[in-house]
Amino acid sequence: MKYIDPHIHMVSRTTDDYQRMAQSGCIAVTEPAFWAGFDRSSPQGFADYFRQLTEYEPRRAALFGIRHFTWLCINPKEADDPGFAREVVSLIPSFLQSPTVLGIGEIGLNKNTRNERIILEEQIALAEKHNQLVLVHTPHLEDKLKGTRLIMDSLRASNIDPGRILIDHVEEHTVGEVLDRGFWAGMTLYPDTKMTPQRAADVIEMYGSERIWMNSAGDWGCSDPLAVPKARLEMSRRGHSQALIDRVTLDNPTTFLSQSPNFRLE
Ligand SMILES: [Zn+2]
Repeated sequence: MKYIDPHIHMVSRTTDDYQRMAQSGCIAVTEPAFWAGFDRSSPQGFADYFRQLTEYEPRRAALFGIRHFTWLCINPKEADDPGFAREVVSLIPSFLQSPTVLGIGEIGLNKNTRNERIILEEQIALAEKHNQLVLVHTPHLEDKLKGTRLIMDSLRASNIDPGRILIDHVEEHTVGEVLDRGFWAGMTLYPDTKMTPQRAADVIEMYGSERIWMNSAGDWGCSDPLAVPKARLEMSRRGHSQALIDRVTLDNPTTFLSQSPNFRLE
């Protein structure tokens, strides 16, 4: 069995995790740029992070036969100071030349502030200018529905085809609107909080398997880099077909990501 984990923060994981993922059938990961558990003190800190994502992680993943791709941006948690954020954004175009960069992400909102929204829209414009795919972070907990709607409004004001945008961290109360408006939807699986493998299987049963994927987030906090194979097992336990399981964990990510010429599995 093969799968793709399309949203995982491998910079926070050990090399043993790559090994366990490979043993579980992982053939590719995509890693969005995000908060690293602490605020970086200078734009240079982001330049080093972008080098880590584009140069070092692909080599570490390759040791286990896993393809590593990445997305670049300033994340919403560190985007509330527009001057600082713009300096980071100005670093991105030169990194877009790297052969494993798929697009701009994960951009979005965290606390739904005015400044976060300004920087979000400037990064949407950057994606549009450079014809990049977009991966979107939506806020957690009580801000999620409002934040998701604000983000979708900003995205629809651009000329980017919603079929080239994936909105991640959807839950039961946001997935319907995201799909109805033509975007792709991602479910982020956590061990016990937020979306679990069981809830993700429920969502597939309620909303179908079109334009939807699942990922582990696997970051610096409590998270499980094997969440996607665990969700595959949960779907199998419920009697779903292998074709359906493969669709949401392998074929759909491949279809969406292949819109970038840099995404190649061979
Ligand atoms: Zn993330």
